[in-house]
Amino acid sequence: MGKASRDKRDIYYRKAKEEGWRARSAFKLLQIDEEFNIFDGVKRVVDLCAAPGSWSQVLSRQLYLPAKLSPDSRHNDLPLIVAIDLQPMAPIEGVIQVQGDITNARTAEVVIRHFDGCKADLVVCDGAPDVTGLHDMDEFVQSQLILAGLTIVTHVLKEGGKFISKIFRGKDTSLLYSQLKLFFPVVTFAKPKSSRNSSIEAFAVCENYSPPEGFNPKDLHRLLEKVGSPWGGDDLDCSSAWLEGPNKVYIPFLACGDLGGYDSDRSYPLPKVADGTYQSLDPVQPPIAPPYKRALELKKASNQGGIRDLE
Ligand code: SAM
Repeated sequence: MGKASRDKRDIYYRKAKEEGWRARSAFKLLQIDEEFNIFDGVKRVVDLCAAPGSWSQVLSRQLYLPAKLSPDSRHNDLPLIVAIDLQPMAPIEGVIQVQGDITNARTAEVVIRHFDGCKADLVVCDGAPDVTGLHDMDEFVQSQLILAGLTIVTHVLKEGGKFISKIFRGKDTSLLYSQLKLFFPVVTFAKPKSSRNSSIEAFAVCENYSPPEGFNPKDLHRLLEKVGSPWGGDDLDCSSAWLEGPNKVYIPFLACGDLGGYDSDRSYPLPKVADGTYQSLDPVQPPIAPPYKRALELKKASNQGGIRDLE
């Protein structure tokens, strides 16, 4: 698809370039905030799976820059934003970057060290695996990222804090909902207007972090497994993911973002300049080390008969 054609078919892709966002995903976080005010009173945030960085840009623009520019700002009182990804990210003002795997226990330790004993008010996670198109597999890998995010949450989020995580809607959605409800009394699955209807993604907006009494983060996985089984729920009243029919758990699902605003599934005419042509903008920040780079190098080398040199 040419750049101009994508600009026409994807209004949020075009708007992201016009407004200086590295990815169209920025609008998803902004629209979630419009509905849930997730940035209210936030001083410390963790952005999991952050590259190329449009959510970190939103955090920087909404939290860090206004605080820095405020006349009574003090250096040691500025919001702390820690962003993590497997991929390296170009710098963003006010954002500490960590390159690492969120499923690795050491990554959680690095995040905790940055918070220096303090806890975060908000953890956001837009993690997505490389999608295979095999729906069950993609949903499973995605759920592993959410669990990794939740593990980090149990170590760094303060009581009363919020956790926003991308989810893939599928047959295990109600199980996931029940698991999140163990830790958050208010869980809503939201679909921002900028997320296409054709996409299975949605976002779990989890509010008011309240781990079960006596909870030990080491027991997280055992606790979550219990929720999924009909006999293991014990005294947990949210262990009903396995119920069916009228007894099933109904998940609060909310469309968010200005519903009269741009529709991500529609094509929009391109704005023309004076001579009647359209000028497509370049992406704001191309990825610095995309995973596909090596594949392209290998392909190019093999076309030139030089694949051995790269192996
Ligand atoms: N929120 C980002 C933004 O606004 O620019 C976009 C995130 S992108 C949809 C998904 C990211 O998840 C990718 O950059 C990928 O590298 C990252 N990711 C996937 N698995 C990960 C893991 N195990 N640890 C850390 N990052 C991971």
